Amino acid sequence: MLICVAGVHGNEPAGVDALNRLLAGLRESDTPIRGDFVALAGNRRALAAGRRFLSRDLNRAWTADRVSALRNGGAPDPSEEDVEQGELLVAIEQAMTRARGPVTVLDLHTTSGEGGVFSTISDRLPNRRLGLAIPAPLVLGLEEQVDGTMTEFFDREGLVTLSFESGQHEEPAAVDRAEAAVWIALEQLGLIDGPAPSAEEARRRFQEEFGHLPRVLEVRYRHPIEPEDEFRMLDGYRNFQIVDEDEVLGRDLDGPVLSPQEGRILMPLYQEQGEDGFFVVREFKPFWLAVSERMRRWNLERYVHLLPGISRVGRGQEALYVNRRVARWYALELLHLLGYRKHREARSRLIVVRRGGVDGDG
Ligand SMILES: [Zn+2]
Repeated sequence: MLICVAGVHGNEPAGVDALNRLLAGLRESDTPIRGDFVALAGNRRALAAGRRFLSRDLNRAWTADRVSALRNGGAPDPSEEDVEQGELLVAIEQAMTRARGPVTVLDLHTTSGEGGVFSTISDRLPNRRLGLAIPAPLVLGLEEQVDGTMTEFFDREGLVTLSFESGQHEEPAAVDRAEAAVWIALEQLGLIDGPAPSAEEARRRFQEEFGHLPRVLEVRYRHPIEPEDEFRMLDGYRNFQIVDEDEVLGRDLDGPVLSPQEGRILMPLYQEQGEDGFFVVREFKPFWLAVSERMRRWNLERYVHLLPGISRVGRGQEALYVNRRVARWYALELLHLLGYRKHREARSRLIVVRRGGVDGDG
């Protein structure tokens, strides 16, 4: 079962248009579907208003606590997004009860800046496989920076998940690319019986448009902002544009805002609402991609707590303490390769977690 969600941010209708078009195309062409395909509009109230959200970001509150509160009837005085989140949760969980095989959730988004076409995943091998099937850049590590996303929640529930950013909010090509990504996913997941010309065509177009960019990148920095910072991005930055260390990228009340390192800029903020000013990403070399896959197949996480400065939280290997004074930066890099992500930080101690069970990637 492939569940596609679009418009979780109400100012991003491109994904909704893409799903409508794809459904119409499927009906017209009589493409034989093997399995179930579910298309959902996320924040319908915000979509109607053309705003990212009405009272809170619908893609930031998918924590275990909040979801269990929603299941138990929700808040006494729910906001628009509390209602939307409850409806979306029910729709997805009802679909899941009808699933005849594994379930994948694909979440469609667009960005305010130009050129932001990429997939992003929680770094588990099944998610990687889906991400690498779509020939657009794959960005790792965003989930470490942003808490409570919908895909993160369903990923923890054991589903295969991926978010796809298809371009600038208003550009017509963002609709085309979102549709193309879903065709590729349908084919990759085995939901289409026989060859899928639309998926083939989609791959060729992505290759042409993004073949010059690194295949996989990882987040190295996030610039968090609050409304009272009055952060403003300098004009003209495109997604994946190369930036230097100390390059002035924007301004806020304290003066110029610099890039802390060289890399490529991701999701420069050119809209009013949002909590991230920009991200800096860097290529994740194919060599390391292969190394990390091998390390996980060998289940090296079983031994990682034997390294100096690293110990287990509890008995399993899902969560680890990292003593930053003993295990310096090498530790987090190594743990990233094994699929661990930063969870919490307190003084010199860090807690990292890894999704999934013993093989973590099943
Ligand atoms: Zn979005």
